[in-house]
Amino acid sequence: MGFNYDKLYFPYKSVRQYQDLLIQNINASIESRKNLLAHAPTGLGKTAAALAPALYQAFNNNLNLFFLTPRHTQHRLVIDTLKEIKDKHGISIPVVDLIAKQSMCPQPLAKELGRTDFLDYCREARKDGKCVYYRNTRKVELTEEAEQVLADLLNNSPMHSEDFCAACADNKMCPYEMALELGKKSRVVVCDYFHLFADHVRNAFMAKMNKDLEESVVIIDEAHNLPDRVRSLMTSRLTTYTINNSIKELESFEFFDEAEVVRYLLRSFEGLVPNKGKESIVAKDDLVKHLTSLSGFSFEEVIELLITAGQAVREERKKSYTLAVARFLADWVVDEPDRVRIIKRERSRRGNEFISLSYCCLNPAQYTEPVFDESYSSILMSGTLTPTSMYSEVLGVSKSSVIELKSPFPKENRLTLIIPETTTRYSKRSDDMYQRIAGKLESLIKSLSVSTAVFFPSYRILNEVSNRLSISDRKIIIEQRGLSKEAKDSLLNSFRDSQGSVLLGVVSGNFGEGIDLPGDELECIIIVGVPLPVPDLYAKSLINYYDERFSKGWDYGYVFPALTRVIQNAGRCIRQSTDKGLIILLDERYAWSNYYKCIPADWDVKITKHPEKMAREFFKHQG
Ligand code: SF4
Repeated sequence: MGFNYDKLYFPYKSVRQYQDLLIQNINASIESRKNLLAHAPTGLGKTAAALAPALYQAFNNNLNLFFLTPRHTQHRLVIDTLKEIKDKHGISIPVVDLIAKQSMCPQPLAKELGRTDFLDYCREARKDGKCVYYRNTRKVELTEEAEQVLADLLNNSPMHSEDFCAACADNKMCPYEMALELGKKSRVVVCDYFHLFADHVRNAFMAKMNKDLEESVVIIDEAHNLPDRVRSLMTSRLTTYTINNSIKELESFEFFDEAEVVRYLLRSFEGLVPNKGKESIVAKDDLVKHLTSLSGFSFEEVIELLITAGQAVREERKKSYTLAVARFLADWVVDEPDRVRIIKRERSRRGNEFISLSYCCLNPAQYTEPVFDESYSSILMSGTLTPTSMYSEVLGVSKSSVIELKSPFPKENRLTLIIPETTTRYSKRSDDMYQRIAGKLESLIKSLSVSTAVFFPSYRILNEVSNRLSISDRKIIIEQRGLSKEAKDSLLNSFRDSQGSVLLGVVSGNFGEGIDLPGDELECIIIVGVPLPVPDLYAKSLINYYDERFSKGWDYGYVFPALTRVIQNAGRCIRQSTDKGLIILLDERYAWSNYYKCIPADWDVKITKHPEKMAREFFKHQG
């Protein structure tokens, strides 16, 4: 007897190739209260494949379902799929779609403040009764009006967070408070990674919604992002830019003694940073001793002094650099395991030198493992979750099973070529090498007429190569640093508008992940070089850390994350089963065994020094 997908609230008429396996594995994992790591390439329909069995299990076992995505734009797909499930199966699905509180807040000031200043502002506005939205929403308990609005919102569930926030703002209610109330009545919570993996956020968040991890299924979408995302969430950083602003701020408020203390902090930074070389590892006490001996105050007294002054500044200005300094110092003295403290000379985009001091998290499992251990079942899925054993170790996923699925797209629709003639290896970079890369790109691009995206490991290499490129008969679009959303959309539209355009971008830039260019909008991706991290002290610390933990420092801390980015980028040209895509990996290292082994086996890679003919034939054959 076949598997009953309808019973599992599957929203569509038919189940795709390999999607059936994903659904069955997710269902079995939740049923047996296990965790699952699922490598599921693009095109499988992961969202529906996860939501259908998870909802079935949640309804049957009275569980909550948390769906975590790293990007706000992915919430829309989850909510749309839930609507389709609701329509097809005629069931009521109470859902709350949560984004960051600051993004939900209708107060005009929310858009102007930094994150922590906003949280302080909101806390005080609630306490002092100065926020009209909050006052309308609750007086300890929900107001009667809020209860009525909530009943309407519940009726219209599932709703996108934008629509939900607009409805709350129209009724002069606080969207965040209303969302937490809706969360109490919801079976499904769609939210960001930080809601569950930042433990200080999770505890308050779960308590406010009366939810319990033990009674919750947690689905983590795009889970390949989780290690880096958690490390960055849990890293504290202070720069001389913030310190200088704090000094100015304190002086303008006539807090001269406090300004003097922060000036001593600046001197401590200058004293700790190495004269030769850009960075060094420092100990907690290096800063503590420096600052206390210069200022004559204990470290705790300094923190207290700055908090008091910073709060006074914030009363008037709503934001305070001094509070940011105080918060960093408070984090600095807490001894967390698996961390490294690094002081570094850096340059801003405008070329100005500044010093940063970072208290870096190396081990995301410190924060993810408790979630996976406590939850009823956690499902980690991504199109690039290989090697699954790395994610299992790095994130601390125990009690787990693994499924690695093949791409559902016809093999003959993809051609992957490695061209081992050039490299962006640091020791080999030269004018001659950039010229050779540009020459190879020119030859490839001119031999084809399809829309092409070329991704470089950095803006520097992009500039070096693009300055040497000479292609006159194609529209060339070059990605710049720090594009606004509008500028990014406009570049993408311009790329789409002219068939055969060439986009030159950066692997970790605006276009490497999260863009959809189906059909002939994008048919060829060229990855120039290997986007390895800068081999700085942080990268070295990560390598050492994973060497000590798993004897796999080089792979876990350096090579595999870079190759994951390559595979994500390369996947941009095949978004649906009828798409055809040419992927070219332009660096000799891709042919080396420790890099080659990271490329999915079903990509059927060919190594060649004469790709033009193969590429032309591939597209001719594809019609
Ligand atoms: S209580 Fe709500 S509406 Fe008021 S500031 Fe905070 S988040 Fe914004």
